[in-house]
Amino acid sequence: MPAPLALPLTTTFPCRAAPGARATPHPVVVGADWRAVTGHDEELERIAAALGGGASCITELPAVLPLFARWWRRATRVDGLVVRSQDRGRSWHVVDGPGPCCPTHGFRDPRLAGAHAREVRHVAGADRHRRELRHLVAGLGAVADPPAPPGPAVVDPGLVADGWACGLAPDAVGALVAALGGAGVGPPLEVLLAAMQHGTDLGWVHRTVQAAGADPAGATEGDAAGATEGDAAAAAALAAWLAWTPTPLDAEDPAARGRWLATGARRADIEACSQAGYRAEDAMAIAHGWGLSVPGAAQVLARWVGMGGRPEPGELVALREAGLAFAPTPPSAQAVARLAALLHLGSLDQRGTTALALAICREGTVLGAARRWGKGAHGRRSA
Ligand SMILES: [Zn+2]
Ligand SMILES: [Zn+2]
Repeated sequence: MPAPLALPLTTTFPCRAAPGARATPHPVVVGADWRAVTGHDEELERIAAALGGGASCITELPAVLPLFARWWRRATRVDGLVVRSQDRGRSWHVVDGPGPCCPTHGFRDPRLAGAHAREVRHVAGADRHRRELRHLVAGLGAVADPPAPPGPAVVDPGLVADGWACGLAPDAVGALVAALGGAGVGPPLEVLLAAMQHGTDLGWVHRTVQAAGADPAGATEGDAAGATEGDAAAAAALAAWLAWTPTPLDAEDPAARGRWLATGARRADIEACSQAGYRAEDAMAIAHGWGLSVPGAAQVLARWVGMGGRPEPGELVALREAGLAFAPTPPSAQAVARLAALLHLGSLDQRGTTALALAICREGTVLGAARRWGKGAHGRRSA
Protein backbone atom coordinates (compact mmCIF):
# COMPACT_ATOMS: atom_id res chain seq x y z
CA MET A 1 0.00 0.00 0.00
CA PRO A 2 1.50 3.37 -0.97
CA ALA A 3 1.97 5.77 1.89
CA PRO A 4 -1.00 8.13 1.97
CA LEU A 5 -0.21 11.56 0.71
CA ALA A 6 3.36 10.59 -0.17
CA LEU A 7 5.34 13.02 -2.30
CA PRO A 8 5.27 13.60 -5.22
CA LEU A 9 1.62 14.61 -5.07
CA THR A 10 -0.58 15.32 -8.04
CA THR A 11 -3.18 18.01 -7.56
CA THR A 12 -4.72 20.77 -9.62
CA PHE A 13 -4.52 24.53 -9.52
CA PRO A 14 -6.61 27.18 -11.30
CA CYS A 15 -4.58 29.07 -13.81
CA ARG A 16 -5.24 32.04 -16.07
CA ALA A 17 -3.83 32.21 -19.56
CA ALA A 18 -3.92 36.00 -19.44
CA PRO A 19 -4.83 38.71 -16.90
CA GLY A 20 -8.62 38.84 -16.55
CA ALA A 21 -9.09 35.53 -18.29
CA ARG A 22 -11.16 32.82 -16.65
CA ALA A 23 -9.10 30.50 -14.48
CA THR A 24 -9.14 26.84 -15.42
CA PRO A 25 -7.58 24.16 -13.25
CA HIS A 26 -4.74 22.09 -14.63
CA PRO A 27 -2.60 19.40 -13.01
CA VAL A 28 0.30 20.38 -10.79
CA VAL A 29 2.82 17.90 -9.41
CA VAL A 30 4.43 18.80 -6.08
CA GLY A 31 7.76 17.01 -5.82
CA ALA A 32 9.70 15.70 -2.86
CA ASP A 33 11.74 18.93 -2.96
CA TRP A 34 8.52 20.94 -2.49
CA ARG A 35 8.78 22.43 -5.96
CA ALA A 36 5.80 22.42 -8.26
CA VAL A 37 5.93 21.12 -11.82
CA THR A 38 3.21 22.81 -13.84
CA GLY A 39 3.73 21.89 -17.47
CA HIS A 40 4.21 25.54 -18.33
CA ASP A 41 7.23 26.74 -20.20
CA GLU A 42 8.48 28.44 -17.10
CA GLU A 43 11.23 30.37 -18.84
CA LEU A 44 8.81 31.96 -21.27
CA GLU A 45 6.26 32.67 -18.55
CA ARG A 46 8.83 34.40 -16.42
CA ILE A 47 9.84 36.64 -19.27
CA ALA A 48 6.15 37.42 -19.89
CA ALA A 49 5.63 38.16 -16.20
CA ALA A 50 8.69 40.44 -16.18
CA LEU A 51 7.18 42.34 -19.08
CA GLY A 52 3.96 42.84 -17.13
CA GLY A 53 1.99 40.15 -18.88
CA GLY A 54 1.15 36.62 -17.82
CA ALA A 55 -0.92 35.58 -14.87
CA SER A 56 -0.22 31.89 -14.79
CA CYS A 57 0.09 29.77 -11.69
CA ILE A 58 3.88 29.71 -11.71
CA THR A 59 3.99 33.12 -10.07
CA GLU A 60 1.43 32.14 -7.41
CA LEU A 61 2.54 28.61 -6.56
CA PRO A 62 5.88 29.37 -4.86
CA ALA A 63 4.05 31.60 -2.38
CA VAL A 64 1.50 28.99 -1.41
CA LEU A 65 3.78 25.94 -1.27
CA PRO A 66 5.14 26.62 2.26
CA LEU A 67 1.55 26.77 3.44
CA PHE A 68 0.76 23.59 1.55
CA ALA A 69 3.75 21.91 3.28
CA ARG A 70 2.41 23.00 6.67
CA TRP A 71 -0.98 21.51 5.84
CA TRP A 72 0.70 18.33 4.55
CA ARG A 73 2.56 17.79 7.83
CA ARG A 74 -0.76 17.89 9.63
CA ALA A 75 -2.56 15.67 7.12
CA THR A 76 0.17 13.01 7.27
CA ARG A 77 0.38 13.25 11.09
CA VAL A 78 4.05 14.18 10.97
CA ASP A 79 3.30 16.90 13.54
CA GLY A 80 2.06 14.33 16.07
CA LEU A 81 -0.50 15.15 18.71
CA VAL A 82 -2.34 18.35 17.76
CA VAL A 83 -4.85 18.57 20.61
CA ARG A 84 -4.56 19.62 24.25
CA SER A 85 -6.90 19.88 27.18
CA GLN A 86 -6.49 22.30 30.08
CA ASP A 87 -9.43 20.86 32.01
CA ARG A 88 -8.66 17.16 31.99
CA GLY A 89 -10.60 16.19 28.93
CA ARG A 90 -13.72 18.27 29.40
CA SER A 91 -12.71 20.42 26.43
CA TRP A 92 -10.04 20.12 23.77
CA HIS A 93 -8.13 22.78 21.91
CA VAL A 94 -5.80 22.80 18.93
CA VAL A 95 -2.14 23.09 19.99
CA ASP A 96 -1.45 26.15 17.85
CA GLY A 97 -4.76 27.81 18.66
CA PRO A 98 -6.86 29.49 19.44
CA GLY A 99 -7.18 31.32 16.15
CA PRO A 100 -10.17 33.34 15.03
CA CYS A 101 -11.44 30.14 13.41
CA CYS A 102 -11.38 28.10 16.64
CA PRO A 103 -14.43 27.80 18.91
CA THR A 104 -13.86 29.78 22.12
CA HIS A 105 -14.70 26.90 24.40
CA GLY A 106 -12.86 24.32 22.34
CA PHE A 107 -14.29 20.97 21.34
CA ARG A 108 -15.95 18.36 23.52
CA ASP A 109 -14.41 15.59 21.42
CA PRO A 110 -10.61 15.53 20.90
CA ARG A 111 -11.13 13.94 17.49
CA LEU A 112 -13.08 16.98 16.32
CA ALA A 113 -10.34 19.26 17.63
CA GLY A 114 -7.84 17.17 15.66
CA ALA A 115 -9.93 17.47 12.50
CA HIS A 116 -10.05 21.24 12.96
CA ALA A 117 -6.25 21.38 13.30
CA ARG A 118 -6.04 20.01 9.74
CA GLU A 119 -8.70 22.25 8.22
CA VAL A 120 -7.42 24.65 5.59
CA ARG A 121 -8.91 27.66 7.36
CA HIS A 122 -7.04 26.77 10.57
CA VAL A 123 -3.74 25.86 8.90
CA ALA A 124 -3.82 29.00 6.75
CA GLY A 125 -4.96 31.26 9.59
CA ALA A 126 -4.53 34.85 8.50
CA ASP A 127 -2.23 33.92 5.60
CA ARG A 128 -3.35 35.71 2.45
CA HIS A 129 -2.85 32.56 0.38
CA ARG A 130 -5.65 30.70 2.10
CA ARG A 131 -7.73 30.55 -1.07
CA GLU A 132 -4.84 29.09 -3.07
CA LEU A 133 -4.20 26.50 -0.36
CA ARG A 134 -7.85 25.54 -0.53
CA HIS A 135 -7.47 24.96 -4.29
CA LEU A 136 -4.40 22.77 -3.85
CA VAL A 137 -5.99 20.66 -1.10
CA ALA A 138 -9.29 20.31 -2.95
CA GLY A 139 -7.34 19.24 -6.04
CA LEU A 140 -6.06 16.19 -4.16
CA GLY A 141 -9.55 14.74 -3.86
CA ALA A 142 -10.24 12.05 -1.29
CA VAL A 143 -6.49 11.48 -0.74
CA ALA A 144 -6.46 14.74 1.24
CA ASP A 145 -8.17 13.02 4.16
CA PRO A 146 -6.53 9.62 4.41
CA PRO A 147 -7.81 7.00 6.85
CA ALA A 148 -5.38 5.63 9.42
CA PRO A 149 -2.96 3.05 8.03
CA PRO A 150 -3.21 -0.26 9.89
CA GLY A 151 -1.54 -0.26 13.29
CA PRO A 152 0.21 -3.07 15.17
CA ALA A 153 -1.98 -6.17 15.21
CA VAL A 154 -2.44 -6.14 18.98
CA VAL A 155 -3.89 -2.67 19.02
CA ASP A 156 -7.64 -2.09 18.75
CA PRO A 157 -8.26 -0.61 15.25
CA GLY A 158 -10.82 1.75 16.77
CA LEU A 159 -8.13 3.22 19.02
CA VAL A 160 -5.76 3.55 16.06
CA ALA A 161 -8.45 5.48 14.19
CA ASP A 162 -9.16 7.68 17.23
CA GLY A 163 -5.46 8.40 17.72
CA TRP A 164 -5.14 9.20 14.01
CA ALA A 165 -7.96 11.71 14.31
CA CYS A 166 -5.99 13.45 17.06
CA GLY A 167 -2.79 13.49 15.01
CA LEU A 168 -1.13 10.29 16.23
CA ALA A 169 0.39 7.87 13.74
CA PRO A 170 -0.52 4.18 14.35
CA ASP A 171 3.03 3.40 15.50
CA ALA A 172 2.76 6.08 18.18
CA VAL A 173 -0.53 4.61 19.38
CA GLY A 174 1.05 1.15 19.35
CA ALA A 175 3.98 2.35 21.45
CA LEU A 176 1.63 3.92 23.98
CA VAL A 177 -0.51 0.81 24.22
CA ALA A 178 2.59 -1.33 24.65
CA ALA A 179 3.74 0.96 27.47
CA LEU A 180 0.39 0.46 29.15
CA GLY A 181 0.86 -3.26 29.23
CA GLY A 182 0.25 -4.30 25.65
CA ALA A 183 -3.17 -5.86 26.21
CA GLY A 184 -5.33 -6.48 23.17
CA VAL A 185 -8.17 -4.31 24.34
CA GLY A 186 -7.24 -0.69 24.03
CA PRO A 187 -7.25 1.77 26.91
CA PRO A 188 -9.50 4.79 26.53
CA LEU A 189 -8.29 7.40 24.08
CA GLU A 190 -8.26 9.96 26.89
CA VAL A 191 -5.60 8.00 28.80
CA LEU A 192 -3.27 8.07 25.79
CA LEU A 193 -3.85 11.75 25.12
CA ALA A 194 -3.41 12.73 28.78
CA ALA A 195 -0.23 10.68 29.02
CA MET A 196 1.22 12.33 25.91
CA GLN A 197 0.30 15.78 27.14
CA HIS A 198 1.81 15.32 30.60
CA GLY A 199 4.59 12.88 29.73
CA THR A 200 3.01 10.38 32.12
CA ASP A 201 4.71 7.01 32.34
CA LEU A 202 1.97 4.63 31.15
CA GLY A 203 3.77 1.69 32.72
CA TRP A 204 3.32 3.49 36.04
CA VAL A 205 -0.39 4.01 35.25
CA HIS A 206 -0.75 0.33 34.44
CA ARG A 207 1.01 -0.90 37.57
CA THR A 208 -0.83 1.54 39.81
CA VAL A 209 -4.24 0.54 38.42
CA GLN A 210 -3.35 -3.12 38.80
CA ALA A 211 -2.20 -2.58 42.35
CA ALA A 212 -5.51 -0.87 43.03
CA GLY A 213 -7.25 -4.05 41.93
CA ALA A 214 -8.42 -3.07 38.47
CA ASP A 215 -6.93 -3.29 35.01
CA PRO A 216 -7.98 -0.66 32.45
CA ALA A 217 -6.52 -2.60 29.54
CA GLY A 218 -7.82 -6.00 30.55
CA ALA A 219 -11.58 -5.60 30.75
CA THR A 220 -12.19 -8.87 28.92
CA GLU A 221 -9.64 -10.77 30.97
CA GLY A 222 -11.31 -9.39 34.06
CA ASP A 223 -14.72 -10.57 32.91
CA ALA A 224 -13.66 -14.16 33.35
CA ALA A 225 -12.66 -13.36 36.90
CA GLY A 226 -16.12 -12.03 37.60
CA ALA A 227 -15.39 -8.36 37.04
CA THR A 228 -18.33 -6.22 36.05
CA GLU A 229 -18.60 -3.43 33.53
CA GLY A 230 -18.60 -1.11 36.51
CA ASP A 231 -15.15 -2.36 37.46
CA ALA A 232 -13.90 -1.70 33.95
CA ALA A 233 -15.34 1.81 33.98
CA ALA A 234 -13.81 2.46 37.41
CA ALA A 235 -10.45 1.20 36.18
CA ALA A 236 -10.68 3.42 33.10
CA ALA A 237 -11.53 6.43 35.26
CA LEU A 238 -8.64 5.65 37.59
CA ALA A 239 -6.24 5.28 34.65
CA ALA A 240 -7.40 8.63 33.22
CA TRP A 241 -6.98 10.36 36.58
CA LEU A 242 -3.45 8.97 36.92
CA ALA A 243 -2.57 9.94 33.36
CA TRP A 244 -3.66 13.53 34.00
CA THR A 245 -2.00 13.94 37.40
CA PRO A 246 1.58 12.65 37.60
CA THR A 247 3.58 14.48 40.30
CA PRO A 248 7.29 14.80 41.03
CA LEU A 249 6.71 12.47 43.99
CA ASP A 250 5.39 9.78 41.62
CA ALA A 251 8.56 10.03 39.54
CA GLU A 252 10.71 9.75 42.67
CA ASP A 253 8.64 7.03 44.36
CA PRO A 254 6.45 5.22 41.79
CA ALA A 255 4.67 3.16 44.44
CA ALA A 256 3.65 6.26 46.43
CA ARG A 257 0.38 6.76 44.56
CA GLY A 258 -0.63 3.16 45.10
CA ARG A 259 -0.07 3.57 48.83
CA TRP A 260 -2.14 6.75 48.75
CA LEU A 261 -4.97 4.97 46.95
CA ALA A 262 -4.91 2.16 49.48
CA THR A 263 -5.73 4.67 52.25
CA GLY A 264 -9.14 5.35 50.69
CA ALA A 265 -8.50 9.10 50.77
CA ARG A 266 -10.38 11.31 48.30
CA ARG A 267 -8.61 11.66 44.98
CA ALA A 268 -8.66 15.45 45.15
CA ASP A 269 -6.86 15.28 48.51
CA ILE A 270 -4.39 12.67 47.28
CA GLU A 271 -3.62 14.84 44.29
CA ALA A 272 -3.03 17.98 46.35
CA CYS A 273 -0.89 16.12 48.90
CA SER A 274 1.11 14.20 46.31
CA GLN A 275 1.73 17.40 44.32
CA ALA A 276 3.15 18.94 47.49
CA GLY A 277 5.39 15.93 48.07
CA TYR A 278 3.43 14.32 50.91
CA ARG A 279 3.24 10.55 51.10
CA ALA A 280 0.45 8.37 52.48
CA GLU A 281 2.64 7.77 55.52
CA ASP A 282 2.45 11.47 56.36
CA ALA A 283 -1.35 11.30 56.47
CA MET A 284 -1.10 8.13 58.53
CA ALA A 285 1.14 9.85 61.07
CA ILE A 286 -1.33 12.73 61.36
CA ALA A 287 -4.23 10.28 61.60
CA HIS A 288 -2.45 8.40 64.35
CA GLY A 289 -1.49 11.51 66.28
CA TRP A 290 -4.97 13.00 66.12
CA GLY A 291 -7.10 9.87 66.28
CA LEU A 292 -8.47 10.63 62.82
CA SER A 293 -9.22 8.37 59.87
CA VAL A 294 -6.47 8.47 57.25
CA PRO A 295 -8.85 9.99 54.64
CA GLY A 296 -9.74 12.62 57.26
CA ALA A 297 -6.07 13.35 57.88
CA ALA A 298 -5.46 13.59 54.12
CA GLN A 299 -8.25 16.15 53.91
CA VAL A 300 -6.65 18.23 56.69
CA LEU A 301 -3.26 18.02 54.99
CA ALA A 302 -4.75 18.96 51.61
CA ARG A 303 -6.25 22.09 53.22
CA TRP A 304 -2.81 23.09 54.47
CA VAL A 305 -1.44 22.59 50.98
CA GLY A 306 -4.31 24.66 49.59
CA MET A 307 -3.45 27.68 51.77
CA GLY A 308 0.22 27.46 50.86
CA GLY A 309 1.52 25.76 54.00
CA ARG A 310 3.77 22.70 54.12
CA PRO A 311 3.81 21.53 57.74
CA GLU A 312 5.71 18.45 58.77
CA PRO A 313 3.29 15.79 60.05
CA GLY A 314 5.00 16.07 63.43
CA GLU A 315 4.23 19.79 63.58
CA LEU A 316 0.52 19.12 63.15
CA VAL A 317 0.62 16.34 65.74
CA ALA A 318 2.47 18.64 68.15
CA LEU A 319 -0.51 21.01 68.08
CA ARG A 320 -2.55 18.39 69.87
CA GLU A 321 0.11 18.09 72.50
CA ALA A 322 -0.06 21.90 72.82
CA GLY A 323 -3.67 21.50 73.87
CA LEU A 324 -5.61 22.00 70.64
CA ALA A 325 -8.94 20.22 70.86
CA PHE A 326 -9.73 19.77 67.17
CA ALA A 327 -7.71 18.62 64.20
CA PRO A 328 -5.73 21.61 62.98
CA THR A 329 -7.53 23.12 60.03
CA PRO A 330 -5.20 25.82 58.69
CA PRO A 331 -6.06 29.49 59.12
CA SER A 332 -6.94 31.40 55.96
CA ALA A 333 -4.20 32.90 53.83
CA GLN A 334 -5.61 36.32 54.76
CA ALA A 335 -5.14 35.57 58.47
CA VAL A 336 -1.54 34.60 57.84
CA ALA A 337 -1.04 37.79 55.82
CA ARG A 338 -2.54 39.83 58.68
CA LEU A 339 -0.16 38.25 61.16
CA ALA A 340 2.78 38.85 58.85
CA ALA A 341 1.78 42.52 58.63
CA LEU A 342 1.44 42.83 62.42
CA LEU A 343 4.92 41.37 62.80
CA HIS A 344 6.30 43.63 60.05
CA LEU A 345 7.48 40.63 58.08
CA GLY A 346 8.02 41.01 54.36
CA SER A 347 6.85 38.50 51.81
CA LEU A 348 6.78 34.99 53.24
CA ASP A 349 8.24 31.87 51.74
CA GLN A 350 6.53 28.53 52.17
CA ARG A 351 8.35 27.83 55.41
CA GLY A 352 7.44 31.24 56.82
CA THR A 353 3.80 30.85 55.80
CA THR A 354 3.73 27.47 57.53
CA ALA A 355 5.34 28.80 60.72
CA LEU A 356 2.87 31.69 61.01
CA ALA A 357 -0.11 29.44 60.24
CA LEU A 358 0.99 26.97 62.92
CA ALA A 359 1.39 29.86 65.37
CA ILE A 360 -2.18 31.03 64.69
CA CYS A 361 -3.44 27.48 65.23
CA ARG A 362 -1.50 27.18 68.46
CA GLU A 363 -2.58 30.54 69.92
CA GLY A 364 -6.12 30.44 68.55
CA THR A 365 -6.14 33.95 67.03
CA VAL A 366 -3.99 36.22 64.91
CA LEU A 367 -3.59 38.69 67.78
CA GLY A 368 -2.70 35.92 70.19
CA ALA A 369 -0.09 34.65 67.78
CA ALA A 370 1.27 38.20 67.29
CA ARG A 371 1.59 38.70 71.07
CA ARG A 372 3.30 35.37 71.61
CA TRP A 373 5.59 35.91 68.62
CA GLY A 374 6.49 39.36 69.93
CA LYS A 375 7.56 37.89 73.26
CA GLY A 376 10.64 36.30 71.78
CA ALA A 377 9.36 33.36 69.87
CA HIS A 378 11.33 34.64 66.88
CA GLY A 379 13.35 31.50 66.86
CA ARG A 380 10.40 29.88 65.08
CA ARG A 381 11.01 32.03 62.07
CA SER A 382 14.14 30.12 61.25
CA ALA A 383 12.73 26.81 62.47
ZN1 LIG B 1 -0.78 27.09 -14.73
ZN1 LIG C 1 -8.85 27.18 14.35
